[in-house]
Amino acid sequence: MVEDSKQEHSKEHKTGMNCPQCGAFIKTSIFELFTSGALSCPSCHLRISIDRTESKIAFNALRKVQQAQQN
Ligand SMILES: [Zn+2]
Repeated sequence: MVEDSKQEHSKEHKTGMNCPQCGAFIKTSIFELFTSGALSCPSCHLRISIDRTESKIAFNALRKVQQAQQN
């Protein structure tokens, strides 16, 4: 996972997460995560509900990514 993300970094800046079911990348944003409270996978259409505890963790992770991109 870590090696993959390094390779991804050189291509394009993306914010999102990988689908827990099929592994496809689900593009999202911090704003989307907080407002929608759920994501759906574009590949397998799995619906992922985000409870507040988990979204807080995701938010912190995504915020670090976005801060890194801005620098
Ligand atoms: Zn999926």
